[in-house]
Amino acid sequence: MTSPPPPWALLAELTHSCPLHCPYCSNPLELVRRSRELSAEEWADVLRQAAELGVVHTHLSGGEPLLRPDLAAIVAAAESAGIYTQLVTSGVGLSAPRMSALASAGLRSVQLSVQHADPAASDRIAGHRSFAAKERAAAVVRDAELPLGLNVVLHRDNLDAVGDIVDLGVAWGAERIELANVQFYGWALRNRTALLPTRDQLSRARETVESRRKQLAGTAELVWVVPDYFDGVAKPCMGGWGAVSLTVAPDGGVLPCPAAGALPDLDVPNVRDRSLEWIWNSSPAFNLYRGTEWMSGPCGGCPRRETDFGGCRCQAHALTGDAARTDPACALSPDHALVRALAEAPSDDPPPDDARRYVYRGPRPARRERSRG
Ligand code: SF4
Ligand code: SF4
Repeated sequence: MTSPPPPWALLAELTHSCPLHCPYCSNPLELVRRSRELSAEEWADVLRQAAELGVVHTHLSGGEPLLRPDLAAIVAAAESAGIYTQLVTSGVGLSAPRMSALASAGLRSVQLSVQHADPAASDRIAGHRSFAAKERAAAVVRDAELPLGLNVVLHRDNLDAVGDIVDLGVAWGAERIELANVQFYGWALRNRTALLPTRDQLSRARETVESRRKQLAGTAELVWVVPDYFDGVAKPCMGGWGAVSLTVAPDGGVLPCPAAGALPDLDVPNVRDRSLEWIWNSSPAFNLYRGTEWMSGPCGGCPRRETDFGGCRCQAHALTGDAARTDPACALSPDHALVRALAEAPSDDPPPDDARRYVYRGPRPARRERSRG
């Protein structure tokens, strides 16, 4: 077997603990307990191995990475391995002294999540009073002169406020605002009925983003991540399975994408048992859907198979029970009717300001046994 090209990015999920309870959280339904988390020394070893493999960029994420008291040591380990570090945070716990310690350790930039431009709506969606902390965190990042990005997951409950959210990000000093339409894995799949937008909402939001983009040209970058289910096209999920990036879960499980742990037949390798080099190059998990040879059905002979890689394996599994099928988001998929039916279904949800519409992400990491290869 020839070696695949090296990865360039690593998502480091330092903990699944989080003060927030977002109903679309991409963490798995069964969260890793704190007692099973990798230590700072183990993370340092993972980052050193990652750099040797070719990784140049890491997102330090979670859960809430600020809940790790040893976060600055992990940042310093990445810095000494020559890896660019970006903190992905809810902002809760980002004080000025903490920011200063992280910046001194080598942190290069911060991505702050925001749920809504309206404080009460933001707190309701997050399931936690956190808007004020986010505002303070943005100021702390700006004072430290680090680049600030805003991460926003868009759904039925906040799409109509997308213009206000962009204005908020600009007022807080964000250089980049990522407007990611919700993807239906993990907690978002469980909350799909409440989160699914209408086609009208999406087209209004798209127009608003286009017009803000023209107004903001040269000041803040707006990134629009296209919605699942509505466009009839499959997304090039993760840039292809095991093609450019890897995710390391809090317990050391290594995945081709953050949601792949939900695939029942995936034998998840672990950095506590194997080298990252073996996991990337040789593990069955990373080779399962790598390239195009595994494809059948319409993808097998499709001219777009090197462009979108057949779409998302987790979505194919979630909707059809078979991760190897063409992503039903693609209009050429024999299962596309499933997606069309969901996109056009009328909603009889409670009104958007009703928190009871959500199953909130669990408050505490629960017992979890991840299979280890
Ligand atoms: S999506 Fe929300 S609950 Fe999940 S890790 Fe991020 S801030 Fe925490
Ligand atoms: S058939 Fe497969 S490769 Fe072709 S566009 Fe659809 S998902 Fe992509």
